[in-house]
Amino acid sequence: MVSLASGANAQVRTADPAKRGVALTEFPRLIKLAENVFGYEEIRQPGFTTVSLIVVGKNGVLVADGQGSVAAMQTMLDKIKTITPLPIKWYVVGSDHGDHTAGNSVLPPGITYIVHAFSKSKLQGEGAQATAMTSDKETIDVGNMKVNVLFLGRAHTGGDLEVELPAQKILFMSEAYLNRVFPAMRSAYPSDWVKTVDKALAMNTERFIAGHGFIESPKVSREELVAFRGALIAVIAEVKRLHDMGLSADDALKQANWGAYKEWFIADQQGPIAVRKVYEEIEGKLK
Ligand SMILES: [Zn+2]
Repeated sequence: MVSLASGANAQVRTADPAKRGVALTEFPRLIKLAENVFGYEEIRQPGFTTVSLIVVGKNGVLVADGQGSVAAMQTMLDKIKTITPLPIKWYVVGSDHGDHTAGNSVLPPGITYIVHAFSKSKLQGEGAQATAMTSDKETIDVGNMKVNVLFLGRAHTGGDLEVELPAQKILFMSEAYLNRVFPAMRSAYPSDWVKTVDKALAMNTERFIAGHGFIESPKVSREELVAFRGALIAVIAEVKRLHDMGLSADDALKQANWGAYKEWFIADQQGPIAVRKVYEEIEGKLK
């Protein structure tokens, strides 16, 4: 168990464990966020964390987001058994992407999936049979605390869900918040994503948890969410500049200048994808 006191020494602002001074052998790790609430950081390729949320209720455990393989998911389930004997009863699909869902087959059968209709169609197994959310907010009583599952708008997948613990003022944002990871837009809605982050920032939240990148202290978590919003806006603005110059997407991605965001994790891989996606949005081709 790792505790991150808010008064701890200043951390390097990065998603890179090496630069942060955290050995890969420390993962996976559980970080206590509040009584009976934990963040789970596991390393995925190419070397940053994938984060799940674990809420231990009196009536069972709620997990938000899984891990990227059956083995990684099983490791997380084993780790959960070290903090509670209670079974998993609820599973929130914050992101429908494989790096969060590819291990879902080892979840216990018969649990309740909470999934957005848009994401449900992308799932396999029990998730594909689940009843999708019918509104933008679903409250779950896990026994001793209230958990709100929220759809704050489209962001990284289109079916993005966030998990709020109102009493603890914690908001798990899944892939709507990538901490020092370049905005990954393969299936994103770029302008909506900014609005979704704005909604999160306007909530009565003290600690924002990203789906990738490190779990931060409350103060830094807000600063970094604001920084991520800045990255989204900068990427959209840079692509619009190139589009305004009349460049094709192929030419634009060669000329894109990401400034400081070039140093963010996977910028080289995700930059061209962002160019194509923002082009789609500008040209009204976003599906
Ligand atoms: Zn992901």
